Amino acid sequence: MKLTWLGHACFLLEGSKRVLVDPYVPTGSTAGISPDIVAVTHGHADHMGDAVSIGAKTVAGNEVAKYLAAKGIDATGMNIGGSAVVDGIRFTMTPALHSGWLEEAGPGYYGGSPGGFVIAFDGVSVYHAGDTALFSDMQLIRDLYRPDVALLPIGGRYTMGPDEAMIAANYVGAPLVVPMHYNTWPAIEQDPDAFRRAVERTTDIRVRVLAPGESVTVGSPE
Ligand code: ZN
Repeated sequence: MKLTWLGHACFLLEGSKRVLVDPYVPTGSTAGISPDIVAVTHGHADHMGDAVSIGAKTVAGNEVAKYLAAKGIDATGMNIGGSAVVDGIRFTMTPALHSGWLEEAGPGYYGGSPGGFVIAFDGVSVYHAGDTALFSDMQLIRDLYRPDVALLPIGGRYTMGPDEAMIAANYVGAPLVVPMHYNTWPAIEQDPDAFRRAVERTTDIRVRVLAPGESVTVGSPE
């Protein structure tokens, strides 16, 4: 599976299908990507992004899915701890310690619980943590879903920062970690290479710092 970071929390997973997670591209556009399925971790604008304008099948928490369905999107709703199979791809919604305003709908519109996703297809398991604080039940994600790669926020302020993400990497236990949700704005400025060095110095986990638009192959030799 080819995994491409498009910036912030947006990743494109390409195998037998194309899955776009959190379709907000800070420098660029989602135009021309044409994914088979979009997954939205929560309603904040920097995650929901272009979900409506892309118009593809979309997987999201129940409240966000209902909003998208009202906009004409073929949306599959789910909730934390559950799974949904769409086009042969298994999406499992994981907890995320965060907030859930559905920003696009306006002030006060509750977007339900934020989450993360474990996305499994083509024999590869990808954990996208969404926006979250560190929580020790990430160990259950390791035990249950054995992710091949963990996509972890390191920006701080609105999510965990590098110190917490280092523990998260250990809890999730994926052999590969890709940091996300940093350096989009001054409030979440971090040094991803310092995070990489700290993890790789103390564990067998490999951290791949991607530039926006850069890809890594997951689940088979590069
Ligand atoms: Zn958020």
